[in-house]
Amino acid sequence: MSDTGQHQPRFRSDQARQCYDPQSCDGPETCDAGAPRLVIHADTTPANVHEAPRTAPIHAALAAKNLAPSEHLVDSAYVSADHLITAREQHGIDLVGPTRQNLSWQSHTEGAFSAADFTVDWDQQKVRCPEGKESAGWYKDVKRPGQRAQVRAQFRAADCRGCASRSRCTRSQSPKQGRVVAILPRQEHEALAAARAREGTAEGRRLYAQRQGIESTLSQAVRAFGLRRTRYRGLAKTGLQHAATAAAINLDRMAAWFAGRPIAPTRTSRFAGLAA
Ligand code: SF4
Repeated sequence: MSDTGQHQPRFRSDQARQCYDPQSCDGPETCDAGAPRLVIHADTTPANVHEAPRTAPIHAALAAKNLAPSEHLVDSAYVSADHLITAREQHGIDLVGPTRQNLSWQSHTEGAFSAADFTVDWDQQKVRCPEGKESAGWYKDVKRPGQRAQVRAQFRAADCRGCASRSRCTRSQSPKQGRVVAILPRQEHEALAAARAREGTAEGRRLYAQRQGIESTLSQAVRAFGLRRTRYRGLAKTGLQHAATAAAINLDRMAAWFAGRPIAPTRTSRFAGLAA
């Protein structure tokens, strides 16, 4: 539901690539309980376009059709701080999905201090470490094209040199260097932190579980409607094929819904069947 109390649909997404003509198609569908699951947009791009940058154009296209959802359930490729903020601010869409993993060694080492273990005081431009020390320097990286703007908080070498937790915090061998913590600018940092916090909650898991089954839409499009093979050359004609495929899926689903035909259960493999 939107803030205004008006019902807005919830969508979920995935992407299909076509092998025979290099195009790919991304088609969000509705996933409201008790209603047929309808594909409400077909986004066609050359196959070498990664799905992540398509998030904003897809939302803009949905908004232009007055179909912006309250929540959009997506996989981790679509979830970034920029996408979370843009979706919310420009279209009021809550982008729901697993956030990308932090690749620092601290994030993958049990007991180590990753950036998430530090407390940020944005007003004072200070960061407090798990040992209670405050950073002494606060530097904003200049954002270059293709690079993400970051804030770097530098701790005093004197504080880190004799710290009992140093091995859990930094691998720097230099006694003249304290820990440097890189964080995103405030708005991005808070957007990602909120998404990560929700991921770990029962409500976050319940919400994201509704994306389950999106692969069956791709499977239906490929197996029943020939999505894997393009009939035409060129983006415009292929886009038209995708729109027609989406319409065919919707007609099939509406017919099933009116006939009271339930959604097929997830297929259980023979191996899983043996284990059950
Ligand atoms: S090494 Fe420095 S930043 Fe890390 S916990 Fe110790 S005092 Fe804090």
